[in-house]
Amino acid sequence: MTAYLLERAWVEGRVRDTVRVEVEHGRITSVVPDATDTGVPLRGLTLPGFANTHSHAFHRALRGRTQTGRGSFWTWREQMYAVAGRLDPDTYYELAKATYAEMVAAGYTSVGEFHYLHHRPDGTPYDDPNAMGNALLAAARDAGIRITLLDTLYLSSGFGAATEGVQRRFDDRSAEAWQERVAALSALCGSAGAEGTSSVIGVAAHSVRAVPADALKVLARYVEAGVPVHVHLSEQVKENADCVAAHGVTPTRLLAEHGLLGPMTSAVHATHLTDEDIRLLGEARAFASFCPTTERDLGDGIGPARRLQAAGSALTLGSDSHAVIDAFEEMRAVELDERLATQARGHWSAAELLTAATADGHRSLGFADAGEIAVGRRADLVTIDLTSPRTAGTGRDEHTAVFAASGADVTHVLTDGKVVFEGDHGAVGRALDAVIGRLWQGKGNA
Ligand SMILES: [Zn+2]
Repeated sequence: MTAYLLERAWVEGRVRDTVRVEVEHGRITSVVPDATDTGVPLRGLTLPGFANTHSHAFHRALRGRTQTGRGSFWTWREQMYAVAGRLDPDTYYELAKATYAEMVAAGYTSVGEFHYLHHRPDGTPYDDPNAMGNALLAAARDAGIRITLLDTLYLSSGFGAATEGVQRRFDDRSAEAWQERVAALSALCGSAGAEGTSSVIGVAAHSVRAVPADALKVLARYVEAGVPVHVHLSEQVKENADCVAAHGVTPTRLLAEHGLLGPMTSAVHATHLTDEDIRLLGEARAFASFCPTTERDLGDGIGPARRLQAAGSALTLGSDSHAVIDAFEEMRAVELDERLATQARGHWSAAELLTAATADGHRSLGFADAGEIAVGRRADLVTIDLTSPRTAGTGRDEHTAVFAASGADVTHVLTDGKVVFEGDHGAVGRALDAVIGRLWQGKGNA
């Protein structure tokens, strides 16, 4: 047993002083505010671990390289494909491990990895057809973050058209072949909700663009089984228009009609929705995984987070393309974007945004026993400095976390009772610099 003495901590929805937390076998066994007993001191404000509900690890190599010139989501996608074309299981392991280490250093204790880079550059499977998925699982383990690997079905370059170019690396050729590969991967991992597991296999439909309607039905079985099922949904207006042209209904309606909406479904982005879409997602109790720093980087738009939450879809947060890896920035962006859109302030409380980034996020990834500093929960503790240039003088409560702090203020991270970060942000940066440098070496600045 290890006892920690937290100077300040967010417990049961508010910040308390001198909280003594006992940890045994990766779980929290005691939480006592205003404690008088001793423990390992953690100075600052301690929060539950954050869940990063939407990640494509390899996109990290694009930061700073795609934020140039003009263009759109679709021109950005060409640059993203250039990186996807370069990776093999060894280089992807290195890049993902460094990227996950950046997440850990920013206070993330779980990641939902939306994984579609499955095959060799010519589209044929590796000797181990799950070589890329296994590289990601190993990278997460070695970086000290839990992972829900969302193995992604991708069969079409757009509403039935064959995959082309680098997309062949994503393509399993049929929903049945994909299912077989996922079954082999699942055999090696825990299932959602399993005691103590640190890697879970979930599934994803890339989007209604990339998965024909009849193949969506294959995914419905996972929804019924309570497996985390994620899908990119209505990120682009063009995707909605193309879906209506192809199927006569919106993407959300198409998913509903094929049994894809359920309480373990996450609609990723959910940016451009009709009133009926919001009602369907809310009635199904599907999660809405917003990725504000990516959505602003790509010029996607601002989704109806508040209306979705009111309809029954809990908000979760992901860093997606990793233009930014900072849970604090994602949280405040939800409120600040809503202010820009409505010209009014005060849509989300800091406590609501913390719940989205912690308990609700973990629940959506199949780790319902994480995301709170409470007895019986996984021992995830994220401590931030309250005297940094950003946080000093800001009130030392949940508003400091949501509206002042940044990932750089994280000083200590405990995941499942293990210390995984002790404040050396420089080492995290140097590892990323080396790995990404090697990846682009001799290839020009694409
Ligand atoms: Zn995505």
